Amino acid sequence: MFEASRAATRGMVAAFVVCAEDWRRHDDAPVKVDLWLRTLRELSCALAALNIPLIILESRTPGRIGTVLLELADRAECDALFFNEEYEVDERARDESVTRKFESSSRCVRSFHDHVVFDPASIRTGEGRFYSVFTPFKRAFLARAETEGIRLLPPPKRQPEMVLAPTPVPERIEGFQTRIDPTPWPAGERHAIRRLEQFCERGIAGYKDGRDFPALDTTSRLSPYLNSGTLSPRQCIVAARGANQARLDDSHPGAPGPATWISEVIWREFYQHVLVGFPRVSMGRAFRPATDRIGWSDRLDHFESWCGGRTGVPVVDAAMRQLNTTGWMHNRLRMIAAMYLTKDLFIDWRLGERYFMQRLIDGDLGSNNGGWQWSASTGTDAAPYFRIFNPITQSRRFDPNGDFIRAWLPELRGVEGDAVHDPSVLPPLRRAALDYPQPLVDRDAVKERVIAAFKAIG
Ligand SMILES: Cc1cc2nc3c(=O)[nH]c(=O)nc-3n(C[C@H](O)[C@H](O)[C@H](O)COP(=O)(O)OP(=O)(O)OC[C@H]3O[C@@H](n4cnc5c(N)ncnc54)[C@H](O)[C@@H]3O)c2cc1C
Repeated sequence: MFEASRAATRGMVAAFVVCAEDWRRHDDAPVKVDLWLRTLRELSCALAALNIPLIILESRTPGRIGTVLLELADRAECDALFFNEEYEVDERARDESVTRKFESSSRCVRSFHDHVVFDPASIRTGEGRFYSVFTPFKRAFLARAETEGIRLLPPPKRQPEMVLAPTPVPERIEGFQTRIDPTPWPAGERHAIRRLEQFCERGIAGYKDGRDFPALDTTSRLSPYLNSGTLSPRQCIVAARGANQARLDDSHPGAPGPATWISEVIWREFYQHVLVGFPRVSMGRAFRPATDRIGWSDRLDHFESWCGGRTGVPVVDAAMRQLNTTGWMHNRLRMIAAMYLTKDLFIDWRLGERYFMQRLIDGDLGSNNGGWQWSASTGTDAAPYFRIFNPITQSRRFDPNGDFIRAWLPELRGVEGDAVHDPSVLPPLRRAALDYPQPLVDRDAVKERVIAAFKAIG
């Protein structure tokens, strides 16, 4: 936006294209679409103050997006198109097609990398290859950040006049209604920046020690703002560096919190890099092709129990109910729930990936796919297939008092002590009196089954 406003000589327009068909095909969650609409309303006001009208366009199919944009360009007499790149296969194809349309109408097109810190294709190994392991990627990223610096862009420049009147942002989009409470996610850059500043003042120092405990509010909860483009990863890293004695690394005693958080933001960059380098992951295929031959379980009833938070494993069920009710899930729980689905229930990771995408307010193909393939041991840097989380042990470790479980599973609220993690240890009559399902599978058989399946594909 800044670059367009700087280049404009006779005013500019900002455009957002609603394409419900495209959003449905990509499993965008209603709660996420709701956040987009609320964000657009805030953005429209902020831009209008700069004489930049926000124009909402509608395209029935993704293939028509170029045409509707070109019609706007004609109407507003625009001679250039500026946009930020996205890295999924379909989005890249869309942007290439729009670019061709604009260029063939003798308009100039310029694209930028604002969804990430650096162009994800520009960070490469010494041999020019894409990274498939996080740690060397992170090293290369940090070296680049140290040498080039991370530059924050100023706000867009005020334009001499409004070339068109802004159009109203729709209240809702057919097919994307949600009942999820929006209060925890106020929309707009002002709120996102305030959340980032508060986190850097009060939360980041304790992040390394506290981030794995879902009952505590110790992570930033900035992912919806990052993925909707409300906040840039550059703003995040620069703010974290400010809380880390102007450094990006962990070379001083106060650094573990900020440095760990910066690492997490770099994980997000890494997964965008993977999308560009290994486009098959955006097409429903495994990063490790051999694992596409795994014969996953066809127990759809197990999958449905997992979706509904009725597996009989409290930490998994509490996690799924948090997701279903709020549209968000804590990272530790995403790992536990994903590993439980793909290892204990041995269900294809693609089903879980899709379910998360259809529910998450921060749903993002790169990070979601990366997290799922990590958990299923089919991806980059993946968890070795023989190292399987025991969800009960994870629960004891990361929800030691069972506070998170009790908050989300009313049927276990009266269960005291360690049994909240594993109700099977209760006396049989007491266990039977709970309105809570028995575990779906026998844990003792899980490891053997997974090892046999992975060994079978060689
Ligand atoms: C199975 C699974 C699915 C996931 N799906 C998504 C998704 O759809 N969208 C999404 O943004 N994240 C996803 N994640 C990553 C992570 O769980 C969320 O980014 C994090 O929980 C967001 O909360 P936060 O903003 O409080 O994170 P913080 O802990 O405060 O981290 C700061 C930022 O770093 C980034 N980040 C943190 N952890 C990761 C990670 N493991 N991978 C990539 N980026 C990370 C996020 O942008 C996050 O906002 C997934 C992880 C798993 C295991």
